[in-house]
Amino acid sequence: MASDNTCEICLAGYQSRCVHVEIMSMIGTQAEFARIPHADGTLVATPSMPEDDLIPSLLAASDVLGTGWVAAVAAEASPGKTVAVVGDGAVGLLGIMASKQLGATRIISMSRHADRQALAREFGATDIVEERGDAGVARIEELTGGYGAHSVMRPLERRNP
Ligand SMILES: [Zn+2]
Repeated sequence: MASDNTCEICLAGYQSRCVHVEIMSMIGTQAEFARIPHADGTLVATPSMPEDDLIPSLLAASDVLGTGWVAAVAAEASPGKTVAVVGDGAVGLLGIMASKQLGATRIISMSRHADRQALAREFGATDIVEERGDAGVARIEELTGGYGAHSVMRPLERRNP
């Protein structure tokens, strides 16, 4: 999403709901070059041209990391808190990374894929739950002494038009 980063909603930290929001995917932002609306509010300038080896990480940070970060903030991931992250796609994994950065004490990744589970652990997951539905809830309650997680992050699946 492109945002002006100046309206009341942006200043409250919800740039994706800016009153002047424009959907970036409609303008081809994974192209080599793109015209970015609200560039002053949307883009973050680097102090200098980044080294080539840093560019892939910056590109990842420019998209799904922001979504994962907002999810972790909305989930109030913080010391003493247990968060459960449903799904092990890019947003879910970066929600785990953000929760770790925000100091969540326990991060439960609901993941069914061994390669993603390894990434989840690398990014800060303390537990993996493969079960779903009622069985997943029961497993999380078992892990947390019957209390469950303080919050649940459930990234929406991408819907194709
Ligand atoms: Zn705005």
